[in-house]
Amino acid sequence: MTTIKIRDLEIFANHGVLREENVLGQKFVVSIELDVPTTGRDSLEDTVDYGDVCAFAEEFLRKKTYKLIETAASSLAKRLILKFPKAARASAEIKKPWAPVKAHMGCVSAKAEAVWHKAYISVGSNMGDRRQHVNRAKDELDKNKYCRVIRTAPLIETKPVGYTDQNDFLNGCIELETLLEPFELLDLLHRLEDEDGRTHEIHWGPRTIDLDIIFYDDIVLTSEELTIPHREMANRYFVLKPLCDLAPHMRHPSDGRTVARLLEEVCRNGEIG
Ligand code: ADP
Ligand code: MG
Repeated sequence: MTTIKIRDLEIFANHGVLREENVLGQKFVVSIELDVPTTGRDSLEDTVDYGDVCAFAEEFLRKKTYKLIETAASSLAKRLILKFPKAARASAEIKKPWAPVKAHMGCVSAKAEAVWHKAYISVGSNMGDRRQHVNRAKDELDKNKYCRVIRTAPLIETKPVGYTDQNDFLNGCIELETLLEPFELLDLLHRLEDEDGRTHEIHWGPRTIDLDIIFYDDIVLTSEELTIPHREMANRYFVLKPLCDLAPHMRHPSDGRTVARLLEEVCRNGEIG
């Protein structure tokens, strides 16, 4: 990994909360970092052209007016990582040396980062054309600007668990790279479920499509709306089998067991769905 650093690019633009700032404009000083792969080839093809990066940042920050440099920095970082796909991480720091505040200071600044996160999404369907529902979810995720589908696991057929008076399921797993934060990703999955006619009458009941976040990098998050890793993953064959096809050596971030080991234990305990 090599980090390209562009320091103190001066851009005259109109960001600010005050109307005077929007009208008169002022100087912003921008620093950018992009992580690109180290390939050992002496070729521009493997990296980003920093002339292009400067031109892109300047155009971006002059085109739009943000109230906050926080928003400007995070939008710029996201746009940079999308514009320059070689970069696995982009950061943007925006300094405002002439900020109109009654204080003596060097400058005020905001720094934001955009990183492609790795998430594993479990997919399941047991209503209508199950394969079509699963494929639609994959395509819709891939179409989202902030997501890219990397791989998918072969689909498996499983018996329903919990509420057993329903059709068999088709289950799979999607390896996803995303710029969305965990709750943003959950919102997107809920939206895709809703758009595909998902209803919630019966807990663990029939569904056109179920999309769950199993892992998101190696974060551990516990809240009412969202738990990562997924709370039930270690007990569910229909989650672990497809996940194991994609990431057998990945470890559960809190208990340290690999996915292959979790699958082995579920199979040993006879919990195959
Ligand atoms: P299940 O997926 O267990 O069959 P639902 O799809 O009905 O159940 O999900 C119920 C709720 O679980 C969702 O509204 C969501 O807020 C919450 N939830 C908690 N953790 C996760 C997660 N990791 N992925 C998806 N939903 C989650
Ligand atoms: Mg769910």
